[in-house]
Amino acid sequence: MTKPCLFLAAILCALPATGEQSEFTNVIAVIGGTTIDRRSQGAYLDTNDSIENDGSVIIETSAGSSPTLYKLRYQGVPFYYVRFHGYATADDSLDTNGQNFVRMFAAFHELGVTHIIGGATSGGILENQQQGDLIVSDDFLNFNYERPSSILAAAAIERPGVFPRYNPPFCPDIRKILYAIAADIYPGRVSPTGTVVQDDPSRFETPAEIRMYRTLGGDHVSHNVVTEAIYARQLGMHFAVLDSVSNPAEGVRSFTRGTIRTTGDAIARGAIPVVLKAVVELSRLSPACGTTCIGEH
Ligand SMILES: [Zn+2]
Repeated sequence: MTKPCLFLAAILCALPATGEQSEFTNVIAVIGGTTIDRRSQGAYLDTNDSIENDGSVIIETSAGSSPTLYKLRYQGVPFYYVRFHGYATADDSLDTNGQNFVRMFAAFHELGVTHIIGGATSGGILENQQQGDLIVSDDFLNFNYERPSSILAAAAIERPGVFPRYNPPFCPDIRKILYAIAADIYPGRVSPTGTVVQDDPSRFETPAEIRMYRTLGGDHVSHNVVTEAIYARQLGMHFAVLDSVSNPAEGVRSFTRGTIRTTGDAIARGAIPVVLKAVVELSRLSPACGTTCIGEH
């Protein structure tokens, strides 16, 4: 067991005890988002009864103090978990400067994280999408320019000679595992592909914007997972998402905020077992994605 620790001692505390992770080839992290965090009920993975909690760490990164990283364990497999995209509170998600993402990924870099699962609820842009659908997104459109475009520049991390490519932008290894598990156990529809649109996180879109996104090839719109996909690839980490549809996007059909919350809670109940099974499978996975995620010199 590791006790919570802070700041300068955090890196030492974050290291596993002798032999603690030696049987696992990968270092895994899960980034909480509305697909798995039931925010309205204050239910997060670190309080889940089926998960062992080994404490938490805060890393003093080159960009500032990281969000709290919980050291969790499921069926003996250790993984790091960050609540709700690294925002201190849900209300902070209206803050658009993106420092939570920079510090969270700088901490992952310090800890040697190799594989990350994320995911968020989204607005369904397509007419045939239903509330509760899961989407293992395979491409993205980014319209968010308020956050730092480079984690390397923002956190003073060097990866000389590596220029990140995003074709495909999500790790095919993790996507394959997420889809196989979700198709087997998720109590709803699961799409193996989808293009997630990310735009200004401070508001919902207009109907005209949604029509534009649909014309451009977007399938669902969300506000955080694309930043995470960009930073993970810049740092050479394997990353994929379990996105979901909590509501129709504006102008597609009517919806209420209450419906979003109810649907989101139901999605999380079905999606958490998918994420946990994927963590176990990823712990010993030999990457088959070549240089897709880690980059080539
Ligand atoms: Zn990969």
